[in-house]
Amino acid sequence: MHKKATNMERKMSYNEKEINLIQFWEDNKIFEKSVDQRSENKPYIFYDGPPFATGLPHYGHILSFVTKDVFPRYWTMKGYRCERKWGWDCHGLPIESICEEALNIRQKNEIYEMGISNFNEFCRSKVLWYTNEWKNTVDRMGKWIEFENSYKTMDNTYMETVWYIFKKIYTEGFVYKGKKVLYYCPRCETPLSNFEISMDNSYKDITEESITAKFKLKEEPSTYLLAWTTTPWTLIGNVALAVNSDQAYVKIKIANESLILIKNQLDLIKDKYEIIEEFKGKELLNKKYEPLYQIATNADGNSYIVIDGGEDVLSEEGTGIIHLALYGEFDYDMIKKYNLPIIQHIDEHGELKSGPKDWIGIWFKNLDEEVLEDLKQRNLLFNSEAYTHSYPFCYRCDTPLMYNALDAWFIDIQRIKPRLLENNRKINWYPKEISKRFQSIIETAPDWCISRNRFWATAMPIWVCEKCNEIKVIGSVKELQENAVEEVPDDLDLHRHIVDEIHLRCPICERVMNRIPEVFDCWLESGSMPYAAKHYPFENVEWFKSNFPSDFVSEYIGQVRAWFYYMHVISTLLFDEIPFKNVVVNGNILAEDGTKMSKSKRNFPDPNLIVEKYGADALRIYLLSSQLMRAEDLNFKEEIVKQVYRRFNLLLINVLRFYSMIEINELTANITTSENILDKWVINLLNVLIRDVSLRMDDYDTAEVSRLFFSFVENLSTWYLKNSRERFKSENLKEKLTAMNTLSYILSNLSKLLAPLVPFISEMIYKKLKDKGLIDLISVHLESWPSFDEKLINPKIHEKMELTREIVKRSLELRENSKIPVRQILQKVVLNGVSLEKEYLDVIARAINVRNVIIENEKEKELLVDLDTEITLELKLEGIARNLIRHLNNYRKKLKLSTKNRIDLYLTTKDKEILKALDIYKEKIKKVIQADNIFKNVENMTDSKQFKIDNNMVEVFIEVKN
Ligand SMILES: [Zn+2]
Ligand SMILES: [Zn+2]
Repeated sequence: MHKKATNMERKMSYNEKEINLIQFWEDNKIFEKSVDQRSENKPYIFYDGPPFATGLPHYGHILSFVTKDVFPRYWTMKGYRCERKWGWDCHGLPIESICEEALNIRQKNEIYEMGISNFNEFCRSKVLWYTNEWKNTVDRMGKWIEFENSYKTMDNTYMETVWYIFKKIYTEGFVYKGKKVLYYCPRCETPLSNFEISMDNSYKDITEESITAKFKLKEEPSTYLLAWTTTPWTLIGNVALAVNSDQAYVKIKIANESLILIKNQLDLIKDKYEIIEEFKGKELLNKKYEPLYQIATNADGNSYIVIDGGEDVLSEEGTGIIHLALYGEFDYDMIKKYNLPIIQHIDEHGELKSGPKDWIGIWFKNLDEEVLEDLKQRNLLFNSEAYTHSYPFCYRCDTPLMYNALDAWFIDIQRIKPRLLENNRKINWYPKEISKRFQSIIETAPDWCISRNRFWATAMPIWVCEKCNEIKVIGSVKELQENAVEEVPDDLDLHRHIVDEIHLRCPICERVMNRIPEVFDCWLESGSMPYAAKHYPFENVEWFKSNFPSDFVSEYIGQVRAWFYYMHVISTLLFDEIPFKNVVVNGNILAEDGTKMSKSKRNFPDPNLIVEKYGADALRIYLLSSQLMRAEDLNFKEEIVKQVYRRFNLLLINVLRFYSMIEINELTANITTSENILDKWVINLLNVLIRDVSLRMDDYDTAEVSRLFFSFVENLSTWYLKNSRERFKSENLKEKLTAMNTLSYILSNLSKLLAPLVPFISEMIYKKLKDKGLIDLISVHLESWPSFDEKLINPKIHEKMELTREIVKRSLELRENSKIPVRQILQKVVLNGVSLEKEYLDVIARAINVRNVIIENEKEKELLVDLDTEITLELKLEGIARNLIRHLNNYRKKLKLSTKNRIDLYLTTKDKEILKALDIYKEKIKKVIQADNIFKNVENMTDSKQFKIDNNMVEVFIEVKN
């Protein structure tokens, strides 16, 4: 039996309805059941990348919640077992920076002063600060995942696997210690990798003084080489100048000085000059010059000379002469190539440590001004001007970065590059173009610097002998127990402050071995997730065999060169295997004006408010339908979420409301045969939908799937239902049952198709079917994915219905042009150039309210629609009668009369045509409004109601008789 919707339910907001469903799923353990009911022998493996819990979730996270929720749901419905476990990224600079701020720490040495142990324990206490907020947002968005027992990168088991992996690749010779010029944050005192800087666009446009300095040649009096730089502070550490030996250079004369620069940049010279000489850059090689600041002390004299920088010395920027100091990638390459002195004139805090005495201790960026003034004083400045360029800043603390040459541990990427490239071919990227991008990321990848000079991360398991420098790498807690001088517990915490207390005995000289101070790059940890989350190979070895690689991962585009890349490197190193088979890459969500979303600028609406207003489903399908799913950026527009809500969610809700209202016995949601053309058409449409949605879901294309849904819901609501209403309310029970059965069949399948993308509204549909007793299962999310029936797909019907709709559309336009309301029945519409069966013509007649649809000439080439707009008296009277019926039925509704209530009608009007219509159609009107008697022009009615028909006043009174 069907239960009536209670008033409570009717008043519930969309937001509340969704929240109730979350509770319903939780109470009934629907997620757990959906996983447990599938066989372990048929897994669909999914890795949910671990986020940091150090901030609140934003739109980017919400997008990833949604994308990562859709496909596991889909494959579950397809019969696969898809376990989903949450994880937390706990280590690295983001959390360290937050803790430094909270502890008011400005310099790294303050951490040593408070003790690494205290600092790390503080980090541990803060790292899971926002987990409740995360869980709330995850739940509210309808994302299903096992939140309890989530793995954490700071778990001992997790870190032990990282040790295992490191030892394995170290033993196989993929790890080396070296020096590298890296971007370096002098505040965090740690190198940052290039991708960390480019990932979230840490470059900012800044304007600062660029200068052109004069370098005096030793053997040629009053002759200077001109070199341009945007970082004057690096001039203090200058060791050489580079030219392009193949380019043309000139010597020019201004006043009594000779200046040398590249020929095609002569327009940089604003003063009057005279060209004295033109020559190739190679003429300049090995010339010596006087340093601006004498700090190189190497005796071999291999400094302050002109070298060949080759094609990297560009002819269209600067003076074609590059000043070389340690602080640049190109510079460092040249320094190594020409065996120039390595001069680090800036210390690890970013302050000058060697150079002019008065400047020692000055912050590197503040040296720019000092250098400029000093060179000006000494007549070594050619000119200076404001220059705008993009400069990298620390993505955590916003300090301007500098290059620095540092000792570090590396993974030899060059050696495994061919394998990385080869394996990439096995990955299905969505969109496909990302494969190319990934390939070029691999092709240009430098070696991976895996050490960090920080505190809160997995300690690197390398011990070095204090005397003979023997190295020992440890791969497990057990191995450490076997080698350590001290007692080591089984559950050893592998953080720096604990492990640093443990020493080994040197196998060569028997002296003490100490751990090196470095910790791991946290990307080595997140890249180890497929193994470390399961404590492989210390546990789960059997399980792992059938659960690797993953079937599906998804992240935003910035992670292509981050998490995806590092997982790929590690799985290739360990197993020469890909870590994931299918990967969906999302674009970035930007503010409405196309700028980055920024909390301080408040340039985006609070996601909680969006969900409150339009529901999680509307936000889900808005994101899933957008170009974000094709890895393109999206400017977030609340207006579009609102449109989606109205055109999709509310249309569906209205369909459901209509469906619930209709009461009938012996209903079924199984496919039944119907001879009605609208039924046949919508059944065809549904089967096409099942076919196409399945195809697109297999191709991870939710943008196209959403488009199919939008179009189907619109067809269902604004064509099928709109033109079938009479049948649903028909007194012919068979006709009514057929229509309701068709709609039940459609809704039942639609709820399943919608379930992965919009889990809330699909459950609402499913519950309505359950209210009518059509469903056995408790939730749509325990259902199987529907299959389509080829026999029910009929392109001919679709084609003819499209034609029918076109005719209706044109007829309605003709009505609109002649300002005749649809209520006014017309005599006929005449069609040319069309061939349609009667069943379609009947649909047309009803939809445009004409008595006859006449096909004049089928063979005409072009479709012609000619609406007869003449309103005869007879048509007018019929129109009036229909109008009366409509008003009277509304009045009955207002009086809350049921179909069983019989009435007497009292009606008064001065208009003769209305009275005439009442006479002619009296019997029909009486039947439709359930009136026993109609009394005309009665005087002094009380409690009457008035309305107008064609501007003529009508006054009515209804007397209820039972
Ligand atoms: Zn920093
Ligand atoms: Zn030793």
